[in-house]
Amino acid sequence: MKKVLVGLLVLAAIGSMLIACLNPIEGAGGANVFPRAVALNDADKAAAAIIAPTVSGRTNASGKDISSNGQGAAVPGMYFFWDPKQKDNGYLKVEASMFDKYKSFILTSKEADKYWDFLIQAQDDQVLTADGFYVFFIPKQEKNINGVWISEYSIITTLAIKGIDIPMFEGIPVTTITETDKFTGTVTWYPDHSVFAVSTQYIATITLTPKPDFTFEDVPADYFTVSGATATNEPNSGIVTAVFPKTESGPKIDGRIIVAKPFTRQNSGPFLTTVNNAKRLGANQFLVFGDQVLRAGCPEILTDSGIDLWLIAPIFYHDDNGSNNNSVTARALGRQPYWAICADGELAWEARSPNPASDGTWLRIVCPNDIEYLNYRIESFKPALRACKFTGISLDFIRYFVYWEGTRPETNPQSLRDSCFCDNCVTEFAAIADVTVTGTTAVEKAGFIRTNFAEQWTDYKCGKIDKTVEYILAEIRKEFPYLQSNLHAVPFTSTDHDGAIKRIAGQDFDLLSRRFDQISPMTYNLMKVRPAQWINDVACDIVSVIGNRVPVTPTVQLNEYTRLAEIEDAVKNAIKPTSSGVVLWHIQQTSSNSASANEALLQAIERGLAGN
Ligand SMILES: [Zn+2]
Repeated sequence: MKKVLVGLLVLAAIGSMLIACLNPIEGAGGANVFPRAVALNDADKAAAAIIAPTVSGRTNASGKDISSNGQGAAVPGMYFFWDPKQKDNGYLKVEASMFDKYKSFILTSKEADKYWDFLIQAQDDQVLTADGFYVFFIPKQEKNINGVWISEYSIITTLAIKGIDIPMFEGIPVTTITETDKFTGTVTWYPDHSVFAVSTQYIATITLTPKPDFTFEDVPADYFTVSGATATNEPNSGIVTAVFPKTESGPKIDGRIIVAKPFTRQNSGPFLTTVNNAKRLGANQFLVFGDQVLRAGCPEILTDSGIDLWLIAPIFYHDDNGSNNNSVTARALGRQPYWAICADGELAWEARSPNPASDGTWLRIVCPNDIEYLNYRIESFKPALRACKFTGISLDFIRYFVYWEGTRPETNPQSLRDSCFCDNCVTEFAAIADVTVTGTTAVEKAGFIRTNFAEQWTDYKCGKIDKTVEYILAEIRKEFPYLQSNLHAVPFTSTDHDGAIKRIAGQDFDLLSRRFDQISPMTYNLMKVRPAQWINDVACDIVSVIGNRVPVTPTVQLNEYTRLAEIEDAVKNAIKPTSSGVVLWHIQQTSSNSASANEALLQAIERGLAGN
């Protein structure tokens, strides 16, 4: 970002002070207020910084002459004085505002036929004179100085804003910058947390207020810098945006991540057995629904387990589903959620998708612009988060509608239902993509968008999901700043169903891996009628998109197998490179059958975890 312009000027000034014509160096303030009288007094000498020279590589007096003895227009704002008592040493007075524009100057002196270079820049804590100058003592070296000039200068193209530390987990955000002689400044933060949260990207907006001698006129774009951040500003503006990298996560698990995830809720007796089985399998994360956490005795079981706890947080879908007016969600909202609208004009429900489950009523997805619903969902996670010390939160159904459970390799990509084409979403898309959408009905608008702006529509959807994740995590971390995050990812590879992972689901793993600490694709191979190798294929495809940014932990389902060998094979495929571990889903299966069946299942999983 920093650019240093070095100007070499070709003007000789040997032994005398000449007026320059070629003059890219401007004076202080650029004003033609010269000649002016500038004096050097004893107090100025006392304030002088002593500048040590280096032997100059120059062999002639090429450079910009400067004003001498307080007079002249050659370099307005810079004056050289011979010490009247010494005749051989000198003092340079530089108007302080020169250093607003110039980072430094090289003053070259000539003594007989030798040249010396002095680096002139405002020193730390250097005292200003009463008339607003910095003074530099320029000592003679071997003989009397018989000429000086500016041979090089560096223009400042950036100005550092200080006093804002890089956000660290549990740090306190500052509200002001370090005041300078040029400006003061206030800082606001997004997200607006009282304490910096884990795994969060913070953006500081800095509003500078100029002091009387400073102005934002002529400030170029991106003039200001903030250490550790990418800072930007508009031209002629004192409003600076500083984007910091994500705060560091809390302690990570070394080695393989083994996640136990129950589905069916259990009372504390069998639940204790499930948790103990998870421990036996070496689980270091336990992924659990809120209503399971809140059952009697369960917070204690979870806390005593010593396993890191992660809360399952379904976003645009609720177990309760909100599909009737007496559901928990509908009662809390005073209405049903605004269901997403698909391109066919129908609600985003499972029934019209490929291979729906028997009654076709399980999956109903809410419009991502139903903010009231979203806030209600966020609030609904908090009782469980307060009941135990959680390590993380795992966002599920954080996507657009797709009944991926019913897709097969041969499923026609165009049969996957695209959403949401409600008025709010279409209006937001039109504004963000800066396009005009024609049509009256949702079907007409969807047809127009998908025909004319398919790429923009996909980008908008992926951006919407990404921004929604940002919003949810920021809201949750207001109360639980330490919470890490996991994504329940739709198990499509980048190329499955004509790019449906982004086109239909709106999950862009490159974007989302910058928000989440882990990604868990829901690789339910038995449900999806896929070979066990497919589990590894999906995990590897995600890693190919995101690199090593965050761990990828594919899922093995324990509830639909017909042979224990299938479980063993699935676990082996889940932990193969380049996966970081495995999610054992329906872990309650290890405590739901006869003792011998439970033990057989546990041993099959153990054989799988032992690998090939
Ligand atoms: Zn919508």
